[in-house]
Amino acid sequence: MSYKVTLIPGDGSGPEVIAAAKRVVEATGVAIQWEQAEAGAAMIEKYGTPLPDETIESIRRNGVALKGPVTTPVGTGFRSVNVAMRKIFDLYANVRPAKTYPGVITRFENIDLVVVRENTEDLYAGIEHMVGEDAAESIKLITRKGCERIIRYAFDFAVREGRKKVTAVHKANIMKCTDGMFLDIARQIAKEYPQIEFNDSIVDAMCMRLVMHPEDYDVLVCPNLYGDIVSDLCAGLVGGLGLTPSANIGVSGAIFEPIHGSAPDIAGQHKINPTAAILSASLMLAHLGEAKAAADIEQAVTKVISEGKTLTQDMGGTASTEEFADAVIAAL
Ligand code: NAD
Repeated sequence: MSYKVTLIPGDGSGPEVIAAAKRVVEATGVAIQWEQAEAGAAMIEKYGTPLPDETIESIRRNGVALKGPVTTPVGTGFRSVNVAMRKIFDLYANVRPAKTYPGVITRFENIDLVVVRENTEDLYAGIEHMVGEDAAESIKLITRKGCERIIRYAFDFAVREGRKKVTAVHKANIMKCTDGMFLDIARQIAKEYPQIEFNDSIVDAMCMRLVMHPEDYDVLVCPNLYGDIVSDLCAGLVGGLGLTPSANIGVSGAIFEPIHGSAPDIAGQHKINPTAAILSASLMLAHLGEAKAAADIEQAVTKVISEGKTLTQDMGGTASTEEFADAVIAAL
């Protein structure tokens, strides 16, 4: 069995982490035919757009992509490649696991959380305008369909992954219509999953509890804005951007990528930590049904980090991106 996967190296430090992740996937023995595709600012000159049609078609054909980060210049008309991909493929579920690895210095041990963030609605739909010259309005649009599918995704994920608890994060005490609907739907759907414990939390209280007792949480399901903030908080709890993978799951495609950006300050220096990209590739293999290879990668990463001999600079070591990937491959 061979899978076809679209490979988007991205720009900045993206190609370095994606090359490392690709080598690790290949070392698992799972047969993948990579279809390389391009995205990012450099494509504008060549194609007139940062997201060429060829790239969109490749993802559409293959249904799965492994993607590196793409720089989004500030203050130009450049539309974010990530936002465009979310819209085109209706990537409604952004899944961000945050787990502590022995050997990485963090405030807490044994954190194993997953944030399931709604990825298409809420204030991120970008429905905003000026009201005269001195006021601006942004509309928070949340639909029943959007709430139902993300909440159901979170419960199904919890069942599939053998997790115990789902917490719905909201601000329904203030936003009684939008977040109120999200919470009502979560309570209804929770009844269909009696094997999964369910509770809810107001987002501000949630942030405080997460930094005090992260061990109390398991799967967090959030509307878009809260999910964006809470998932970065969770990344910080487990050691930062270099360690946190993500999956963007949609109706017509799935895109796996590290949550960090293109890290232009260290691009080309071979010192970026490829862990987040390697773990994103592990999530991709699990999505393809290659559970063993996915688990093997996670175990190999855990072994290398906990041994502490081959770590990139952000983890306190001196290893290059490639040396870290080599160590993971050796551990596999
Ligand atoms: P960033 O994540 O690129 O970098 C923030 C800091 O963290 C930098 O100092 C960087 O060197 C460091 N860092 C990030 N990842 C690291 C890793 N794996 N190992 C070691 N150090 C790491 O964030 P930024 O500087 O705000 O963004 C840079 C560009 O990336 C922007 O144009 C932004 O729009 C884009 N971006 C893209 C994505 C994406 O494509 N998914 C996500 C976030 C940001």
